[in-house]
Amino acid sequence: MDYLRTKVKNECFGCEACVQACPKKALAMQEDSEGFRYPQVNEDLCIHCDLCHRVCPANNMPECSHDQKYAYGGYHKDIEIRRTSTSGGAFTAIAQAFCDENYVVYGAASEGLDVFHKGIVDIRDLQTLCKSKYSQSRIGDTFRDVKSCLKAGKKVLFAGTPCQVAGLKSFLQSADISNLLLVEVVCEGVPSPLYVRKLDDHVERKYGARIQTLDYRSKGFKSTPSSFKWDFQRMRLDLKNGKILDKDRWFNPYWSIWLKHLMSRPSCYQCPFANTERQADITLGDLWGVHLYCPELYGKNGGASLIVCNTEKGRKFWAKAAEYFIGHELDFNTALKYQAPLRKHIDDNPDREACMRDLMDPETKYTEICRKWASPPTAKLLFQKYIWGNRQKVFIWNLKHNDKERNKNA
Ligand SMILES: Cc1cc2nc3c(=O)[nH]c(=O)nc-3n(C[C@H](O)[C@H](O)[C@H](O)COP(=O)(O)OP(=O)(O)OC[C@H]3O[C@@H](n4cnc5c(N)ncnc54)[C@H](O)[C@@H]3O)c2cc1C
Repeated sequence: MDYLRTKVKNECFGCEACVQACPKKALAMQEDSEGFRYPQVNEDLCIHCDLCHRVCPANNMPECSHDQKYAYGGYHKDIEIRRTSTSGGAFTAIAQAFCDENYVVYGAASEGLDVFHKGIVDIRDLQTLCKSKYSQSRIGDTFRDVKSCLKAGKKVLFAGTPCQVAGLKSFLQSADISNLLLVEVVCEGVPSPLYVRKLDDHVERKYGARIQTLDYRSKGFKSTPSSFKWDFQRMRLDLKNGKILDKDRWFNPYWSIWLKHLMSRPSCYQCPFANTERQADITLGDLWGVHLYCPELYGKNGGASLIVCNTEKGRKFWAKAAEYFIGHELDFNTALKYQAPLRKHIDDNPDREACMRDLMDPETKYTEICRKWASPPTAKLLFQKYIWGNRQKVFIWNLKHNDKERNKNA
């Protein structure tokens, strides 16, 4: 069953396949009071052709590949690409390997707080699609555009969340997809945009200007890896008056509230894509646990990617993309241990309703939301992050490892 029939919110992923499939433009996405978008039917235009139900991945889950999985960990050789990527820059490496001629790359771009999918036809514009925007992107006409590009004989790279990839596959139905490469991000759900809107109101009151750009995972300005702080997940706000605000993850209420699953989209709590059966040819994530099982790829906290090839096609493209990378094959089951969203969907939080009520209430200020729902960092965590943590442990590991290598070669 799907949302269009039942109106049960957790049955809609917000992928927009139904809206784009409608031959009469009788469907449109509309935001609900929590800030999540759902399709609404204009009964005057609807001809009851049923196409919207048929392309809904909640009704017709597209098939996943059963090819042998191949996992790889590492980071881009170009330090500037690594700095301007969320993890290790795997998305850019794939695009570089993919874009020779007659190509289009679709991914999520942003303007201010607005996040939307768009296509680029020149690899020099790729940066607009890089970096994770932790808000559900508007798909717009992307699926239709992908279909016409494929029909016109173009090569298409589409990157998005697993539900968006499933939506696209469902939308394309029997179209020839031999020229389509599907890349998905590991996804722990999408948060309500109401939080960043309250944050925007707050910064305007406090600093006299609204947010111009929001970088959810800034790694800093300098192109020296020793200055990067990948696992500090720094959020950086550039305000319209030139002021810059940034905070390490532990002091940022956003991460605390979202990762307690207090404000995720209803369907994310039952996400059918959060398991090892993947929708895309390639799955990209952070190489969490890198300091524990492959410290040689930690690279001074500059950011590392986990790449999982789910299909032979994905593996073929990654073999080309890996030329831009420093890294190596990983044991998939070991990588899986550190990647909860590849194993299970997020759990319900019984406080979600109360937190969402506060977010929806125009009288409840941002500071009140943070005080009530975010948890401050523990002393142990701060000790690990700023005094003795991953970075220092990997430094010692490197010293010991290099000593062993020297002794071996002596
Ligand atoms: C909402 C969301 C949740 C995520 N959760 C996790 C997680 O729990 N664990 C984990 O390991 N990794 C997670 N990731 C993936 C991770 O943040 C990186 O996107 C991924 O590792 C690729 O990084 P990169 O350095 O290769 O490329 P980057 O250059 O940083 O590329 C980012 C890629 O993500 C796409 N993208 C960005 N924002 C969105 C969006 N809003 N919707 C759809 N696609 C988008 C871009 O088009 C691009 O392809 C998440 C990403 C998103 C967008």
